[in-house]
Amino acid sequence: MTFTCKFSRVVSSVAGVVLLGAPVQAQSTLPAEYQRLAREVLTEAVNTNTEASIGSTTALAKKLQTRLIAAGYPASDIHIVGPDRKNQNLIVRLRGARSGRKPILLAAHLDVVEARKADWTNDPFLLRLENGFFLGRGAEDDKSGVTVLITNLIRWKREKWIPDRDIIAYFSADEESDATKGVQWVLAHEKALIDAEYALNTDGGGVELANGKPRMFGVEASEKVYVTFRFEAVNPGGHSSRPRPDNAIYALAHALDRLEAFTFPAKLNEVSRTQLERSAALQAPDTAADMRAIARGYLDSGADSTSKAAMARLSRDPTFNALFRTTCVATKLEGGHADNALPQRARATVNCRMLPTDPVTEVEAALKRVAGEGISVVVSDPSTPSDASPLRPELMSLLDQLAARYFPGAPVIPSMALGASDGLFLRNAGIPTYSLSAIAEVDGESNAHGLNEKVREKSIYDAVAFWNDMLHGLAAKTVTLAP
Ligand SMILES: [Zn+2]
Repeated sequence: MTFTCKFSRVVSSVAGVVLLGAPVQAQSTLPAEYQRLAREVLTEAVNTNTEASIGSTTALAKKLQTRLIAAGYPASDIHIVGPDRKNQNLIVRLRGARSGRKPILLAAHLDVVEARKADWTNDPFLLRLENGFFLGRGAEDDKSGVTVLITNLIRWKREKWIPDRDIIAYFSADEESDATKGVQWVLAHEKALIDAEYALNTDGGGVELANGKPRMFGVEASEKVYVTFRFEAVNPGGHSSRPRPDNAIYALAHALDRLEAFTFPAKLNEVSRTQLERSAALQAPDTAADMRAIARGYLDSGADSTSKAAMARLSRDPTFNALFRTTCVATKLEGGHADNALPQRARATVNCRMLPTDPVTEVEAALKRVAGEGISVVVSDPSTPSDASPLRPELMSLLDQLAARYFPGAPVIPSMALGASDGLFLRNAGIPTYSLSAIAEVDGESNAHGLNEKVREKSIYDAVAFWNDMLHGLAAKTVTLAP
């Protein structure tokens, strides 16, 4: 606690007296001025509770708006919008030259997962700095992203940077639940405010550290699509003392047996193929050889025998299997209504994670064939389709250059996320989305969503610098306005 108080004091004093300068501990190329600003923004973001229960994204949106206006953004370019008073979204536009190019959208989310104070070592809503780590709810997910974007937006104003087109930063509400008050609401009601050629999302990707060195730079360019089905068998039932040959529970069980034995065909897309090619070098030699064989030989038009054998071997690993194909698995079961009655109904929940290229109608038709006669198969939780975002050459080559400079030795690896984020809805709305936090961490150390969430101090500063260079690389002004 003492340390927390001391840290808060340091932060507030440097805010007032910039010339004194705080000692800069982290070895980052980010200028000290912006390290201090990033620390200030992260402190404000974490210390403002944005949990769904008792927090408010509106409170944080308003504080950030004040900072942006003080930095020189016109109030007319800042929008706070949303469905109700406590779940507002913040959108700000940095005006660029009129090159005719569509804007680039930058995204982060304001809300955080609930944190139960009593279980934490320290107050989750009071940022502390300890042994080179920032600790607090959201320190990583995703108030690090909020900090990266806000610090750069202010920097760009201070440095009077005019990009070649508008840059929009979108800070969403409600990402951690179903996004109906966040990106879904904004797309339905205010899409023009965030419409863009493509989006760069801070909430995903990242730099993996292993043995003190950067191992890989991740970019999520695609994600699997979630859909849930209900399998159901019905039967007139009767007295259990006189079993009949047809039985709802047995019928459902047989259908689930067939589902267990069924696999969807493997398919690669540009993202998963590049993921295999680029990440093979990080794996053991046998696995690497199989990955390369699949990337080379497993084509839509047919597969050679080497790649087929490799596919069969790697598919035994659940993570590779999920990368290669749509999966559907039974997750819940209910049936019968009395100990002494034949079941009138038996139901199973079957959750699917579809490849972005597999239409839900085809998956449903396949499941109906597998379930067979007498079993109804219906969608119980519909999907939001989400195309894989094309790997834009100018973005990929820029990331290769910047990763080599900031995280030497870490290859840039595009990936298909197995979970979902705001990117799902943005892709669905026709805005290709790339998640690349550029935050470096050892796998699992942040404990995002869990207790004592943390992020390396240096990783925040490096990510701020990285995003500054990335945007300058993507939106360097090529057209100048007449005065
Ligand atoms: Zn997140």
